[in-house]
Amino acid sequence: MLKHVNAFESWIATQQLQQVVSLKGLNTWHIGGTAEYFFRPNGVADLSHFLACWQEQTQEKPVHFLGLGSNLLIPDAGVPGVVVSTLKGLTELKQLDDGLIYAGAGVPCAKLAKFCVKLGLNGGFFAGIPGTVGGALVMNAGAFGGETWQHVVRVEQISASGQLTDRKREDCQPAYRKVGGLLPGWVTGGYFRFEAMDSQDAQQTIKKLLAQRQQTQPIGTFNCGSVFTNPPNQHAGKLIESVGLKGKQIGGAMISPKHANFIINADNASAEQVLTLVDLIQTQVLAQTGIVLQPEFKIW
Ligand SMILES: Cc1cc2nc3c(=O)[nH]c(=O)nc-3n(C[C@H](O)[C@H](O)[C@H](O)COP(=O)(O)OP(=O)(O)OC[C@H]3O[C@@H](n4cnc5c(N)ncnc54)[C@H](O)[C@@H]3O)c2cc1C
Repeated sequence: MLKHVNAFESWIATQQLQQVVSLKGLNTWHIGGTAEYFFRPNGVADLSHFLACWQEQTQEKPVHFLGLGSNLLIPDAGVPGVVVSTLKGLTELKQLDDGLIYAGAGVPCAKLAKFCVKLGLNGGFFAGIPGTVGGALVMNAGAFGGETWQHVVRVEQISASGQLTDRKREDCQPAYRKVGGLLPGWVTGGYFRFEAMDSQDAQQTIKKLLAQRQQTQPIGTFNCGSVFTNPPNQHAGKLIESVGLKGKQIGGAMISPKHANFIINADNASAEQVLTLVDLIQTQVLAQTGIVLQPEFKIW
């Protein structure tokens, strides 16, 4: 049965594979229980080997990929199976001979933004996304008028058995905060094409936009960014405010008094309290405006 015992032992010895790891400090809401197993790959080949062993050994126990946890609600009861952190191992960032930029899934978007600005490329909008490239690719994250998939040429994907495949832009259907056409499995990196832009202009614009954000959003609190996507021609925050819920608190979870489309963890909130607040918002907005609000964040 223990065919891959040596491989697992070596991952345990290097502490790349750990058991019962708290996920609370690994997401921006600071909520949630533990991962049954937690794995930090040491590069794409190591990840591929791990997934192949994991699948064979565990008969497909769940696998979840974690970036910076900035769009994620982790259940209070924790997560069975393995959580794979892309942060330290999938961090390659380079410009290729043909001008494309390759960024590993674990590269923070802020780092990609800086890299682009330095090269005089128009990827500076990534500075507004506090997640990883992997998270931005699967969410089609966007900020300051730019969107991830406007620049994607192809993505590198990995299957549950550890097989790597490149998926072309033409085979995918990016939409508002979602992407159709990705293969089952996960993303290990992306190839991007950016246009030229003056570095100094880009730097100034981003500084200004980040400062504006500081004034309108509850920066410095534990939150996951926008809780709901904006319905067509509407602002989720304004709808929530219009039904009188701004500042509403359930347990430690509170609708931000600064921006109603943010739920903040004001005092040791549980995932259940956040979900109760989400449900209350959806019910009241539907009853009073007829509009269905869709959550933007993911729940494992
Ligand atoms: C203060 C704040 C402001 C924000 N502002 C914006 C904004 O302006 N625009 C915007 O679009 N978003 C915004 N967000 C949301 C968030 O930053 C983005 O959705 C981001 O792309 C999530 O990346 P992540 O690495 O944190 O993903 P995580 O939260 O770690 O994961 C999110 C989902 O993606 C999956 N995932 C992560 N990595 C991979 C991978 N490599 N392969 C496959 N699946 C993967 C996870 O399993 C999960 O389902 C904001 C969040 C915060 C906290």
